[in-house]
Amino acid sequence: MTLMRPKVCRYCGCTEEDACTLPTGDPCSWYEATRTVCTNPGCVRKFEAVKAENRAKAAREKAERRMSSADVHDAIRRGNKPKKKVAR
Ligand SMILES: [Zn+2]
Ligand SMILES: [Zn+2]
Repeated sequence: MTLMRPKVCRYCGCTEEDACTLPTGDPCSWYEATRTVCTNPGCVRKFEAVKAENRAKAAREKAERRMSSADVHDAIRRGNKPKKKVAR
C-alpha cells in the first residue's frame, strides 16, 4: 500500500476525473509534477507547511552533523570579517 498515489490529491483525495472546486469556481489542477497535491488553497497550504518543516529539519540536522557550535561561531566570526584589508 502506498501512501501517496499519483493522480490523487494526498490531502483532499480529489482526482483528475473528480477535481474539487477552487474558491474561484474553477476546477483544481495539480500543484506539482508528482500529482499528489492539487491547487486547492487548503491543500497547497498544508503541502507548503510540510515542505518548509522538512527543509528546516534537514538543514538543522545537516548543520548539527557538520559543525559543533564552536565551529559555527568560528565560521560566523570569519564570515563577518571586513572584506578590505587592514591597513598597516
Ligand atoms: Zn487537494
Ligand atoms: Zn483538488
